[in-house]
Amino acid sequence: MKKHIFIIPGDGIGTEVTACGKAVLDQIAEDGGFQFTFEEGLMGHESIEKLGTALSDETLEKARNSDAILFGAVGHVKYDNDPTLKIRPEQGLFRMRKELGLYANLRPVILFDELLNASSLKPEVIRGTDILFFRELTGDCYFGEKYRSEDGNTASDLMIYHRYEVERIAIKAFEAARKRNRNLCSVDKANALESSRLWREVVQDVSRRYPDVETTHMLADAAAMQLIKNPKYFDVVLTANLFGDILTDEASQIAGSMGMLASASIGEGTGFFEPIHGSAYDIAGQNKANPIASILSVALMLEISFGLPEEAKRVTDAVGHVLKLGFRTGDIADISSDPKKILGTKEMGLQIINSLKHSNFHSREVRY
Ligand code: NAD
Repeated sequence: MKKHIFIIPGDGIGTEVTACGKAVLDQIAEDGGFQFTFEEGLMGHESIEKLGTALSDETLEKARNSDAILFGAVGHVKYDNDPTLKIRPEQGLFRMRKELGLYANLRPVILFDELLNASSLKPEVIRGTDILFFRELTGDCYFGEKYRSEDGNTASDLMIYHRYEVERIAIKAFEAARKRNRNLCSVDKANALESSRLWREVVQDVSRRYPDVETTHMLADAAAMQLIKNPKYFDVVLTANLFGDILTDEASQIAGSMGMLASASIGEGTGFFEPIHGSAYDIAGQNKANPIASILSVALMLEISFGLPEEAKRVTDAVGHVLKLGFRTGDIADISSDPKKILGTKEMGLQIINSLKHSNFHSREVRY
């Protein structure tokens, strides 16, 4: 098998964690006799500094023509502290998603048993959590018309959805629910928002084609509460761009850290794989970032874009094995962790590669 992978490390810890993700791909290629070739491109702050744009046409074309994209994160303190800047790192990411038609963002929230105590939630509440979020990615107020009045004192972002946009991601989520526990919860704000009423109407329509899937509808505020009260209530969660953005950051705390949640963006074009976290410049360049979200994103790439579920499982198992051995990065360490086993980014990546190389272990089944 030959695959060309386009890597966009981006900003901050993006470069550090993506290096670990790439190393895992190298190991998988070596073990399986696959030919993975790589090329790198710029996006975000780095791209603005060097090319004057958050995403150049050339980078976009290279990404489009690859077999899969591994992305780190974009963002820099400069822009967060100055909202008046017109060219901004996240514009690159939004353009990439829109241009490649990446409308479905899959975010598995899987809690490794070894991290039961890394969460601030009670172990008995979160044990066994296994949720697959479908976050719509190319609509909502992120892409709707933006307005700022001339005097600068009034602003709006149009929250807009079209029927086809809801329908196509709903179909993907229902199909996934069929392969899991046949339970789908659609999250919206239909009591307050017209776009959510359309969302609910379309999901109800699509659900009639999937009578074998139990469908429920929940308001986003109630879902935020239920997620920490009883996360095992959820199997597949289908939601819009904004609600999905917020709810999955919340859900990351069930899994122990932002550094544990991977994602796959799919739709019309090349699959795009990235951790859910940002550039985390508070810890950037310090070898402190947890690379597991990037490594689990590689597992998603292997399964979804390359059709290699066994290899994907090897990667996930290797992560589980390293956690079982007690190794942690700072973000997932707790008071019972052995200080000698608290590792930096690179060292955690190397432990996972080491496990891939040497271990013949078996852990829980993962269903994306
Ligand atoms: P963030 O996700 O970067 O960080 C939030 C917190 O989680 C920080 O304390 C950080 O140290 C910690 N954290 C995140 N990932 C971690 C990891 N792998 N290991 C250990 N700790 C980790 O969110 P933020 O601080 O709100 O945003 C920082 C920048 O990232 C901003 O410029 C924002 O716009 C950008 N951002 C980018 C993306 C993206 O590229 N997809 C997503 C979210 C935020």
